[in-house]
This record gives sequence, structure tokens and C-alpha cells, in this order.
Amino acid sequence: MMQKLEFTLSAGPVEVTARTLAGLATPIQYHYDDEFQATFRRCEAKVAEVMRTTKDVLIMQGEAILALEAGLRALITPGMHVLNLVQGVFGKGTGYWISGFGAHLHEIEVGYDDAVTPDMVEEYLDAHPEIEMLCLVASETPSGTVTDVASIGPMCRDRGILTYIDSVSGVLGMATLVDEWGLDYVVTGPQKCLGGAPGLSLVSVSARAWERISANPGAPRDSYLSILDIKEKWLGEGRFPYTPSVADINGLEAALDQALEEGVDQVIARHAAAQELTIAGAEAMGLAFWARRREIMSACVTSIRLPDDLDNAVVRDHARHKYGVMLSHGQGAGNLIRLSHMGPTAGGFHSVVGLAALGRTLLDLGLPLDVGGGVARALDVLSSQR
Ligand SMILES: *Cc1c(COP(=O)(O)O)cnc(C)c1O
Repeated sequence: MMQKLEFTLSAGPVEVTARTLAGLATPIQYHYDDEFQATFRRCEAKVAEVMRTTKDVLIMQGEAILALEAGLRALITPGMHVLNLVQGVFGKGTGYWISGFGAHLHEIEVGYDDAVTPDMVEEYLDAHPEIEMLCLVASETPSGTVTDVASIGPMCRDRGILTYIDSVSGVLGMATLVDEWGLDYVVTGPQKCLGGAPGLSLVSVSARAWERISANPGAPRDSYLSILDIKEKWLGEGRFPYTPSVADINGLEAALDQALEEGVDQVIARHAAAQELTIAGAEAMGLAFWARRREIMSACVTSIRLPDDLDNAVVRDHARHKYGVMLSHGQGAGNLIRLSHMGPTAGGFHSVVGLAALGRTLLDLGLPLDVGGGVARALDVLSSQR
């Protein structure tokens, strides 16, 4: 028999607050109602605040994959040399797009429990002056590792190389200074650290990226994938290219308001505090970490390495079916389970519940763990944080 769902501690989409749900339930307005248009403009400004940018912000009506694909299609010209950093499943997927859209693909690839370092990037760029754009994933959610965007971003800016950043689980989970780091095309989504519902793409686009896109005859136009349509019609003429997802926009504004009232730095700090507690508890319990080093672990999700003979889907299903706690598995990144601390579930007792649910599940499945010791350690950290 399946337990009723009690806690969703997944690595996106995350549980949302009652206020965000109330936003989603706002009566539907005509999209040319001045009130709705004002809401849309406010959302763009609030996204810009969260992303620390004064550049153009686009809100696209589709899950973040939409803006990730749309950006590459707009930026890539045939034969263009693009360097892609691969340390997980999203980075790997980006590479298939890059070559599929006609670019010359260069890759630096490491194991999915590791991270590409700024030194590796610098060395590659020195040896390959033909590189025009660099693509990276700020936070590889399926494996819980991060890339050093703070170093790699400015390095590319200084060399005149465009940057395309998948920061879907990076923004609000870690510092993301779009303007200060000179990032050109950055994508995030509401359903990760912001704690909103899935269904929208939030993007910042630099003037340099727009120049490139406008000059690209292959950039999509008159298409759902066209960011030029949005620039020309909505940003230019105040006319939507198609009907936006009205309910999702109202939900987005509620989530943005909560983040901005708490403060961008405070939201980031809350993720770091949840990570600290989770790591301490997991260590005391006797769990093994997926990532090779502490510094490359993502603040929004802690990945736990499982023994080879214990399948991650079995662990996830056991926690869900027996205990009513939804955890995430590795989505193909490796044999791991994720203790997520993302959005509204970053903080307080959420991670204690996650540790207890995973610990007891693994004990049930035969692993010798000190579940009580791990929970006690997590509570000590929580107590010291309060
Ligand atoms: C969630 C996420 C996306 C969006 O992809 P989905 O497969 O639709 O969830 C893209 N990139 C990263 C790094 C993500 O975490």
C-alpha cells in the first residue's frame, strides 16, 4: 500500500508556499488588461533584481528548457566554435544541442561527481583562440555539483567570449551576479530555488548577445522559440507575441515577492545553512557523498552515493511508498539519491525530515547506518544556527 504523501523534498519542482498557491489561483485576466500588463512588467523587474542585472529580462512561457533551447538556436551560427563544459547530464545535453544546431563543438568533460575548474578553462581558451562562446551549467542539479561561474564568467568577458549559462538551480541557491560577472545569456526557472511552479523560463540577455542574435539570419523568428519576437513585439511594441500563461505569471510574482521580502542574500544564506546541516547529519549517519569535494557541492541539493548493488530508484520508491516522503534520485547522473534543500524546503526541519527518511529507508534496505546519530547531529547544527 502506498503511504499518503507527507513531504515533497524533491530537487525541483519543489513544494510551494500557500502564498504562491494563492498567487496561482488569482482570477484569470485578459492579457491585454492594463493590470495584467503591469503585473508582467513588475515580474520582469523583480526577476532582474533576483538575477542582479539591469540587462533585458525575458519571461518565456514554457519550462526553462524552452529558453535554454531558444538561446542556443538564436546565438549559434554555422561552424561557430563553442566550448561546452560537461560535468553532468544537463551539460552533456547542451553539447548535443550545440552540435545539432550546426556549431563546432569543443568540450571539457569530467566525471559527473567532479567539476571543471577555471584553470582547465583558461588553458583550453589559451590553446583555442577560435572559441566564440562558452556554455556551462552553474549547478548540475541531478548530481548536486556546481561550476565556478564567478571565475569563469569574468574570464570569458575579458576575452570577448559570450557566455551561455544554465542557472536553473543556481539563481537564489548561490550567488549569481549577472552584471558583475559579465554573463551574456542566463536562464533560470521558478520551480527550483525561487520556490515557484514549473512552467516558465526566466532569462537575462546582454546587449552583446542581442547584437549577435540580431545579426544571425538563422535565429528563429515568427516561432515559439524566438527570443527576437519577444524583443521586437513585447519589449519593442508592448504587444505579446502570443498569450502568456496568466496564472503562472501571478504565481511567479508571489514567489518573487517572498524572495525579495526575505532578501536575495538571505535566501542564498538559507540554502547554505540547510546544506551545512544536511552535510553534517549525513556524515554523522555514515552516508557517503556523491561529489568528490566539499567545495563543488551545490547548496541546493546534497547527493548521497549509494552502494552499487542498491538501485537509487528502489531507495526513492521505498521512502515514498513506505514513509510518504518524496526524495529525488539521480535522473541518470549516477547511482545516487538527493537530499534536496531548495526553495521553501531549504531551512529548518525540512532537512532533518529528509535525513531521517533517507536514513531509515537505507536501514530498512540493509545498510548499517547510525540514523539517530545523524539526526542528532543535524539538530545540533540547526540549534547552533538559531
Ligand atoms: C531543472 C533544470 C532544468 C530544466 O529541466 P527539466 O528537465 O525540464 O527539469 C535545466 N537545467 C538544470 C540545471 C535544471 O536543474
